[in-house]
Amino acid sequence: MTQKSVIEVSHLYKAYQTAAGPFPVLKDVNLRINQGEYVAIMGPSGSGKSTFMNILGCLDMPTSGTYVLDGHAVAGMEANAVAGVRNQTIGFVFQGFNLLARSSLLDNVALPLVYSRIEKAERHARAKVLLEKVGLGRHLHSHPNQISGGQQQRVAIARALVNNPRLILADEPTGNLDSVTSEEIMALFGQLNKEGITIVLVTHEHDIADHAKRQVRFLDGEIVQDTLSAAVPVDGVAQ
Ligand code: ADP
Ligand code: MG
Repeated sequence: MTQKSVIEVSHLYKAYQTAAGPFPVLKDVNLRINQGEYVAIMGPSGSGKSTFMNILGCLDMPTSGTYVLDGHAVAGMEANAVAGVRNQTIGFVFQGFNLLARSSLLDNVALPLVYSRIEKAERHARAKVLLEKVGLGRHLHSHPNQISGGQQQRVAIARALVNNPRLILADEPTGNLDSVTSEEIMALFGQLNKEGITIVLVTHEHDIADHAKRQVRFLDGEIVQDTLSAAVPVDGVAQ
């Protein structure tokens, strides 16, 4: 059976424009990720992981090459159309949680829906379901500074889920968390993946990457390794 790809990048290059001229960061990156995969992106600091994630998340555009996201060729597409595809497809989770300090957890999770035509009561109802899902049903009206870092990352994950994304992109989601809390967050990602959500996360920790079914390693802007975890059956992954 042919698998449906969520991410397909071909001959992707990215150079940042600097005062000293173009600075190449991604060099001929090719990667296909199918629906339902769970991929850890690894590699040393400065190897281009965040640049790559920003392109996958349509927050940045490649210098050249193609990127097909959920069947849409987004490189070269008009900005509004890209935003539409992104909002329908992707949930983001960041290292620094990026929550609004002055808003309740309920409002934080409901925030992405403010730009939709959904009424406030329904936005809050949906946010409540998601906060319950991540184990924070008793903190709906708390503010981010009243909960722990791990709980804040759970809120960020609930917010990432609010538009029913097919894909979650997480750049070092456990980078600010201790190892016990990191394991709890990884268990949550594992559960979401079992529910069918494709997950791509960046980490430089092997313990964290071992939770994923596939590990992709970057070095100096190139993919130098792409392997499946031994315990995971090979079917479903195009190599
Ligand atoms: P990683 O996430 O693997 O640490 P990054 O993608 O953040 O790597 O960075 C890759 C390289 O690109 C680094 O050398 C970094 O300094 C450089 N870089 C990142 N963002 C910019 C930018 N906006 N302008 C110029 N150079 C950048
Ligand atoms: Mg980075």
